[in-house]
Amino acid sequence: MRSAFSGVAISKGLALGRARVRAPHIADLEDKPLPPEDIDAEIERLAAALATTRAELAKLREQLQYALAQEQLGEFIDLHALILDDPDLVTSLNDLIRSGPYRAETALRLQRDRLAAIFDAMDDPYMKSRREDMEHAIARVRHVLQRGSSADVVGLAGDVLVTDLIAPAEIAQLSERGVVAAIVTHGSVLSHSAILARGLGLPILVLPREAAVQITDGSPLMVDANHGEAILEPAPDDLRHYRKLEQEQAREKRTLAKLRHAPSRTIDEVDIRLMANAESREDLTRAVRLGADGVGLYRTEFLFLNRRDTPDEEEQFAAYRDLVLAMNRKPVTLRTIDIGSDKIDSAGIALQKEPNPALGLRGLRLALARPALFRTQLRAMLRASAYGPVRVLLPMLTWREEMLKIRALFEGYKTELRAEGHAVAENVELGAMIEVPAAALALPSIIDTVDFVSIGTNDLIQYLLAVDRGNDAVGDLLSPLHPAVLRVLHDILAIGRKHRKSVSICGEMAGQVRYTKLLLALGLTEFSMSPSSLLEARSAIRESQYSHLRRRAGNLLKLRDRAALEKAVARL
Ligand code: PEP
Ligand code: MG
Repeated sequence: MRSAFSGVAISKGLALGRARVRAPHIADLEDKPLPPEDIDAEIERLAAALATTRAELAKLREQLQYALAQEQLGEFIDLHALILDDPDLVTSLNDLIRSGPYRAETALRLQRDRLAAIFDAMDDPYMKSRREDMEHAIARVRHVLQRGSSADVVGLAGDVLVTDLIAPAEIAQLSERGVVAAIVTHGSVLSHSAILARGLGLPILVLPREAAVQITDGSPLMVDANHGEAILEPAPDDLRHYRKLEQEQAREKRTLAKLRHAPSRTIDEVDIRLMANAESREDLTRAVRLGADGVGLYRTEFLFLNRRDTPDEEEQFAAYRDLVLAMNRKPVTLRTIDIGSDKIDSAGIALQKEPNPALGLRGLRLALARPALFRTQLRAMLRASAYGPVRVLLPMLTWREEMLKIRALFEGYKTELRAEGHAVAENVELGAMIEVPAAALALPSIIDTVDFVSIGTNDLIQYLLAVDRGNDAVGDLLSPLHPAVLRVLHDILAIGRKHRKSVSICGEMAGQVRYTKLLLALGLTEFSMSPSSLLEARSAIRESQYSHLRRRAGNLLKLRDRAALEKAVARL
């Protein structure tokens, strides 16, 4: 019988397939008692399962070694291996087996529940999303205990996988096998699985458990993750509607694909610089393929996360050099570590507990508090500049003094490196992210100290409006369409023009096509965005008349409320 369900899409797209229902990933086992004389044997059984799981992960990692596109996936596999290598985990599991006495499966479940409670109590959405990694790592061991292998049932071509949650390491397997979509009962936009699925174009819809359990194995299932809908046993009308949606989507993709090598030029022939934000080599490959004019923001902190040590100068240098080479003479903007706030590393660089982490020791404040680490990173970046144009970008600038101090360090490291015989480019630009309102307001007295400016609207808007960017409860208030935001953006751009300094925006707003014309109107000519938005943005730019939009800026700045701004922006 036809049933329609609504849910939340964490990876968009359309799919029509056959439901393949997978039993919950971590089914709660009936707790069979363990006779006390079997305790030692059970501890050994668990140790053997852990060893098999680690060996399987290592093999999987090896298979992925040369697949550049799988780099992110490799990181998740490393993360799972790291979780299983934790000596505290093994000790806790063994203690649980002894104290029950419990079977290894029960000990794993109890330990998972304990850790889940700890993750759930965290306020930080990034850390919360790490709960899934912990669950997946533990589920792998459970599979080995029960089936001798951690390989999951992943589905076949044409299937829509219906399950409770999907491990990041499964995502690539799913699309390789031709699974067309997934419906899960747990998942968040911030989860690693969702990030990977979006990259691979695999639609994922989160449905409430009550809805998901109604889906029977083998029935036809239509997934419209663009509108957050799923239809079980679709009727002829649904199928006709689906074909229409599919044709529209294909048409849009074909039109956009033609723009890969087209210039990002407005109707009145103003060239707009469209750069990419990246955090992995895979993002860079996509940026090159889609004709980005460079990398406007490379978030280097991702080199530091998910590991217990910190990358040394050689490792960082090799990573930055490879990025520069991959961009083939187009500029690469390397942002120095922006750890702290919602990005906490495992090596102990950031403070673990701060009362207000978004206002705490993050960005360049943290870098300045860890001088050896900062020196290593700046030296590695400067060495990479010998291979192509590098720009160094500092997050969270607040004071002019910070910039002056870092500039002196920067010059000192250049001299030091050259004296050691390293090549360093003649001109390595040093710029600042404007994301603290004080730096935006005081920009006229800071601008002479920077070579370029990049506006981090994600944080700038959070701080301007006093709305936590990670808190769903106030999510609706986090809109760029506040008169203060427009005024600040307009003024930063005007100051940049006056002082002939390049100003770009690298926050999410730059990649949201509904704001492209607004940003052009405010005078923005350099955008940096996720590679997935590049073609849509280029298309919007090519339909815009820059001079005409610029004339509208004055009126836009006079509007007093969000509703009026929304209307005006939609009409641009
Ligand atoms: C920003 O704040 O807009 C930005 C681009 O940096 P991040 O999102 O990494 O904080
Ligand atoms: Mg930021």
